[in-house]
Amino acid sequence: MGRVKKGELCSIKGCRNRAVKSISSVKALNVLSKLNLDVVDKGGRRVYLCELHYKMFKKATKKDRLIEKWWKRL
Ligand SMILES: [Zn+2]
Repeated sequence: MGRVKKGELCSIKGCRNRAVKSISSVKALNVLSKLNLDVVDKGGRRVYLCELHYKMFKKATKKDRLIEKWWKRL
């Protein structure tokens, strides 16, 4: 999880909010596609997220981890 330069905007298509977090695009694109969120620059190495979209991202990754844990118990 990286810090974000001032003035960087959220990478989600149609979102013009200021980014608060940057995430490596490999991980981010995987999660965001599950949320049906489209990223403007898919070729970039990092994805920038505003507070709202970062919250959605975090929620989605948390759910993933829970499912993983659940599967391992079986
Ligand atoms: Zn956003």
